[in-house]
Amino acid sequence: MYSTTDSQQTHILSLLKSNFGYDEFLPNQEKIINSVLNQNDTIAIMPTGGGKSLCYQLPALAIEGTAIVISPLIALMKDQVDSLTANGISANVFNSSQPQEEQQEVLKDLKNGALKLLYVAPESLPLLNDMLSSIKISLFAVDEAHCISSWGHDFRPAYTRLKTLKQQFPEVPLIALTATADRPTQVDIATQLAIPNAKKFIASFDRPNLYIDVRPGQNRNKQIFNFLAKRGKQSGIIYCLSRKSTEKLAATLKAKGYKAEAYHAGLTPEERNNIQDNFLNDRSPIIVATIAFGMGIDKSNVRWVIHYNMPKNIEGYYQEIGRSGRDGLAAHTLLFYSFADVIMLRKFAEGTETEAYQLAKLERMQQFAEALSCRRKALLGYFGEHIIEDCGNCDICKTPPKYFDGTLIAQKICSAVARLREQEAMGMVLDVLRGAQNAQVYDKGYQNIKTFGVAKDIAWRDLQQYTIQLLNQGILQIHFHENGRLLLTPLAKQVLFEGKQVQLANVVKEVEKVKAEKTT
Ligand code: ADP
Ligand code: ZN
Repeated sequence: MYSTTDSQQTHILSLLKSNFGYDEFLPNQEKIINSVLNQNDTIAIMPTGGGKSLCYQLPALAIEGTAIVISPLIALMKDQVDSLTANGISANVFNSSQPQEEQQEVLKDLKNGALKLLYVAPESLPLLNDMLSSIKISLFAVDEAHCISSWGHDFRPAYTRLKTLKQQFPEVPLIALTATADRPTQVDIATQLAIPNAKKFIASFDRPNLYIDVRPGQNRNKQIFNFLAKRGKQSGIIYCLSRKSTEKLAATLKAKGYKAEAYHAGLTPEERNNIQDNFLNDRSPIIVATIAFGMGIDKSNVRWVIHYNMPKNIEGYYQEIGRSGRDGLAAHTLLFYSFADVIMLRKFAEGTETEAYQLAKLERMQQFAEALSCRRKALLGYFGEHIIEDCGNCDICKTPPKYFDGTLIAQKICSAVARLREQEAMGMVLDVLRGAQNAQVYDKGYQNIKTFGVAKDIAWRDLQQYTIQLLNQGILQIHFHENGRLLLTPLAKQVLFEGKQVQLANVVKEVEKVKAEKTT
């Protein structure tokens, strides 16, 4: 058993160098690795490209036995195994699509302790059950752990089987990794995996090299041609909502002489592999894809990402733009949004089991698209990271709207949220601020609280827009799993108690102005 000593540090640094060829750790990697080596259950939340794999691969080398890695995508597992093998580390995959002989081979190696890491699809895990209890397991790694949460945006039913891992193997440390988890999803991961005492590490989600640009979706094709005309042979991804639109847009781009390919789940695996290969090798630098594309793609020189349609939530959006600029060099991300997208996305959500939740996330995405303050602040605030300074690298920072001193309004809104004990969603908060005389208000006795009616001089629509601006500035947050009630963030406490100044924009005017400017 390890304790975090100098010799442990020296040991993991030498493993880092000798097995992976790196001289130093990326942020949080070392702490996470030490947590696992000290046999803690661990939750690692890191942005795409943050270096999650190393967080279990290195401990797998340092601890006796085989690490069992549960990963959702077979293609992704193969890539990982190939690169491990290239580094001289014995690793393999086990899944149901393998030929029988290959499976037998893997099982033999597993039994003989010849593997340092075994990647398993969650669906195939039950097939290994007997074997696992008879070998030495160093650790369990659950990659893309948000797939276990029915609250998350990529729920995979087979992940729920992982609930029993901890019961079955209480002594084996379990590390869960994900790039996309809001606070409640993080809590859900711990609950679902039965690791209530897990040590949690949250790396910064900031990707300062990504320029964040959002525009109304009028004349999208024309805007895209202008965009591409300045970007030569740079590699980029265009995300569309439907298969059909990927094909249509790819054809349009090809007709204009661009090397662009459509990619979606309707293609055969061979076709998809080919397209992916051509993209990775820059033979076809532009890919027009549905969100089926990208998970686990490790291409460092993607210089831009365009969302032809608005994504259904901020998690997906941030993950997708995060596929650009992984080399740390400047990259441009461009989101188009239109009301037509919102309507289509609403239709997708309707009738699903988690309809209300999905609609709330969609609405938040739309609010982000219409933000009038630093985009990065809004995104990071959404993930619970509160930055103070505007980023200087987004469309709003570049051409900010006209602001006025909205401190008093912000104080009123925050104070209402506080007086309602953070139990109410936006509609009720606004009613209370406006002093609405309706049954819902009276049923709860809210006409008696101190902030009742303090903002009755502001029109409902304006007040709503100011509240959305506070969400985008990371001062308020929505609890998506509990009726969308509004929560105060640490920044709200600064507004209420430390005299923090808040700038607001006169939304209706500004939104119209921005729309007019950007589409011309
Ligand atoms: P994630 O799974 O978090 O998206 P990866 O594990 O794929 O990230 O790592 C992203 C990239 O960073 C990979 O190319 C990986 O080889 C590289 N990387 C990981 N750790 C380090 C390190 N300590 N130093 C330099 N590069 C690293
Ligand atoms: Zn900014």
